[in-house]
Order: sequence, then C-alpha cells, then structure tokens
Amino acid sequence: MAAAFASGSAATATVFQALAPGDHVIAPDDCYHGTARLLREVFAPWGLQTTFVDMTDAGNVRRAVQPNTRLIWVETPSNPLLKITDIAEMASIAQSAGALCVCDNTWASPMLQRPLSLGADLVVHSTTKYLGGHEDVTSGAVVGKADTDFFQRVRLIQNVYGAVPSPFDCWLTLRGVRTLHVRMPAHCANAGRVARFLHDHPNVAAVHYPGLPDHPGHATAAGQMADFGGMLSFQVAGGRDAAMQVAANVRLFVRATSLGGTQSLIEHRASIEGPDSTTPDDLLRVSVGLENADDLIADLAQALG
Ligand SMILES: *Cc1c(COP(=O)(O)O)cnc(C)c1O
Repeated sequence: MAAAFASGSAATATVFQALAPGDHVIAPDDCYHGTARLLREVFAPWGLQTTFVDMTDAGNVRRAVQPNTRLIWVETPSNPLLKITDIAEMASIAQSAGALCVCDNTWASPMLQRPLSLGADLVVHSTTKYLGGHEDVTSGAVVGKADTDFFQRVRLIQNVYGAVPSPFDCWLTLRGVRTLHVRMPAHCANAGRVARFLHDHPNVAAVHYPGLPDHPGHATAAGQMADFGGMLSFQVAGGRDAAMQVAANVRLFVRATSLGGTQSLIEHRASIEGPDSTTPDDLLRVSVGLENADDLIADLAQALG
C-alpha cells in the first residue's frame, strides 16, 4: 500500500491528521525540524499531545507511554546528529501500547533500511531526497503493510485535502527510483571516506556518522541498515565562526539545505532551523553526493585549513 503526496511534509501532516484530537504521540527530540514544527505549531492547537524524548534510550520511550498514546514516530538516522534508534524495539513498545509505529525513512531510503520488515506499521518518505535523487522534485509518500482503517483514513485525507503530487512530479520521482540501487552504494562509499577524513582532522571536534566504529549507534545501525547512508554532520573546532568560515571556504560543496541528490551540499544547520534550534552552533551538516571522493576530501581539506 502506498499513497503519494506533494511533499514529505504533506505525507507527515496527513499521518498526524489521521489521528484524533486528544491522542498522544511520542516523537524523537531531534526529529526533522519541520515535523517538530507541525506537532508544536499546528497539531498541538488542534489537540494532539506530543512528548519529545531521546529515542536512542528505549527506557525514555517506555516511560513516555500514556493510556492515550496512539503513535510512536521514529526517525533514524536522525537529523542532524545522526542518532540511531532501534526500530524493532520501538515497534514492540508501540505494539504493547496499542499504538502505531511510524518510521520516517527518508535518510536511509528503502535500499538501506526496511522498517516494515522490522515491525513498523507505516513508513513515511520525503521522496524529494534519495528516491527522487536529482534535486529537481518535491514529493512524498506514506507506505503501509496493509489496507487498515488507519491507511484508509490517510487516503481519505490525501484525497479531500488534495495534498497530491502533479503527474510531472510523479514522473520525476519514478525516474529517480530507477537508479536508487546504483546511487545509494555510491553515496555510502563517498560518505564513509569523507567521514574518516574528517574524523582524523585536527580542526574537527566531532564527526557524526553511524558508519564510524566509535559512533554510539554503530552496532544498532549495522544490525538494521544495509549500509550507513550518505548523510553526516561534523563540529568544527573553534565554534560557530570557524564553522561558518569552513562553509564559506568550500568550492565544490554547494551551500544549500535539502539532501539526497547528486551534488554534495553543506549547511550551517542551526541557522536553517532558526532561533529555537537546539543544534550545536559549530555543526555543519553534509549531504555527500556522487562526485569523486578525492575531490570532496581535497575541498574539505582546503576549507578546514
Ligand atoms: C526533508 C525531510 C522531510 C520533509 O520533506 P519535504 O519533501 O521537504 O516536505 C521530512 N523528513 C525528513 C527526515 C526530511 O529530511
């Protein structure tokens, strides 16, 4: 079962809207900032209650369950700190609570991570990212295991609100899907090389990439992902100004938000998220593209000085 949407955000909003006012949602404290804003600024006034927790510790999620908990929202790897949540564990907590487990699988893509086979009830994608893959389409999808009452409600809202993609957006998305299996391993290989380079660089204070053996979620990621993905973030020694300088110095990386396309992108995430951001202000988020890894590393080397 799948329903296509005009954006990942429209897909996400539809899932929340298929709940009822008074229902309770558990979401990660570092979920995609648009998802957090939907929950705080749109669905809280509508009557949804949300508890934001650090989902890397399943105990936090168990403690957050209430009698009216209807949905556990999972996003792994997370944005922008690449935290890893155990999907099977979240699905089992949701099941014993009588709630749905919904996984935003945008960053991993279906090639690297299959939440439905790990027990999740629904998967949400911003197909704007890896599935579209070419930075030229905005689209989204909700994918389910079965045609449940909840999925029918998702379809009803998709239909009556008109949150649907145009035929051309569908065409572009399908064009991207055909090469996902070729692009994704190349993204992973490049990201692994860039992560190792940054890890050993003296002007880098921290690298967040689940493929690094010292990443706290490495073992969980290795168990539930086929590879570690094309996204990483790093913190520049010297703080915010030094991070801004690195972003200003790059020549091959493009300074832009979004992710999952052929070009490598770099962004100062806290600036994108705005004043309520909890992202460290020395952090740069990188979407590693399909350029030659030697060129990407050379560019970061000159930018870091
Ligand atoms: C980009 C993104 C979204 C929102 O998708 P849009 O297609 O830009 O609306 C949702 N979740 C994650 C993890 C994303 O990266």
